[in-house]
Formats: sequence, structure tokens, C-alpha cells
Amino acid sequence: MLRRAGCAPRVIEIIRGDITKLQVDAIVNAANESLRGGGGVDGAIHRAAGPELLAECKRHPGCPTGDAVLTLGYRLPARYVIHTVGPVWGDGSFGEAELLRKAYRSVFRIAADHGDIHTLAFPAISTGVYGYPKDAAAGIAVEIMRENEAGFSRIIACVFDDAMATVYRDLLPRA
Ligand code: ADP
Repeated sequence: MLRRAGCAPRVIEIIRGDITKLQVDAIVNAANESLRGGGGVDGAIHRAAGPELLAECKRHPGCPTGDAVLTLGYRLPARYVIHTVGPVWGDGSFGEAELLRKAYRSVFRIAADHGDIHTLAFPAISTGVYGYPKDAAAGIAVEIMRENEAGFSRIIACVFDDAMATVYRDLLPRA
């Protein structure tokens, strides 16, 4: 493998596209507290994984905001799904930033504890229906990804639209 002297291989990268298509050990779902499926990326993941995913989710009582739960990926190319629940944006004074950090950290903790998850892909948690401002949410995503990059071989920020891709590229100019 070619490696430039003094240049560590990049762990964090940006991919624009559908997270359900990614061949990684685990994809992250921006779920809701019920873990019973929903719209946005949650709906896309459940559709692609098949009904077995909902059946496994139903064995969990739910997932409080900021926590995370691991399931199998079923028909997805990813072997696992780590479901986390980001905060609904109010006006920024309801602890949203800390809850979003907690959601990212909970995912990394589950992935690290699992022992067989080396590559994982995140959607931009809370930036859809939950209304979190894109720049601020991406800043937190990158902050927590950097905090954890030593423990993983590949961390993907998977974005669905050009606006979000631009936000991440500004934060990760080399990615
Ligand atoms: P939340 O309820 O946490 O806001 P959403 O699913 O509404 O979750 O949106 C989170 C982010 O996921 C948004 O930026 C949205 O554009 C993006 N998204 C939606 N579908 C997909 C998908 N299939 N792959 C990757 N990202 C997606």
C-alpha cells in the first residue's frame, strides 16, 4: 500500500448518497424513542432491512434520547444497525447540543464494546424532521467522530443532499 510519509490514513470521510447501500460493519439510524420505525432515514433503513428489523426493535422497550441500541442489519449490506435518538431542536436552550453529543458518543461506545465493528456510517442525526440547524449538528458530529477516530478504521458521514455535503466539507476539508 502506498502511504505518504508523515501522513496518517484518513479515517473520517464524507459520502453523499443513501446510507442503506453502504457496505460497512454498522450503519447508524436516526431513530425515534419508540424504535418502531418512522420517516426519513429511519423509514429507509427499515424498508431496506426488511420486517425482521422491526421485529427485533419491538423486543426493546424503546430508546431514550441520547442513548443507542444495536440490532442486526438483516437484508442490509451492513451487518448491524446502531439506532440512536437525537434531540428535537427547540431553540437551543433545552440541552440539545449535549443530547446530540451523547447520541454520537452512545453509538461509538456500543460499536467499541462490540469488538467486531471497525467501519461505521452515520446519517446527519437530528437534521431532518427534528430540525437541528445543519451547521451546528455537523460541528458536533465531526467533534465526536474525531474524538473516536483512533478506535475505528473507517467512519463515514453519509449525507443525502448537497447542502449537507458542503457543510461537512467545510469542516473536513481533506475528507
Ligand atoms: P431526524 O428525525 O433525526 O431529524 P431524519 O431521518 O428526518 O432524522 O433526517 C436525518 C438526516 O438523514 C437528514 O439530513 C436527511 O436528509 C438524511 N437522510 C434521509 N434519508 C437518508 C438516507 N436514506 N441516507 C442517508 N441520509 C438520509
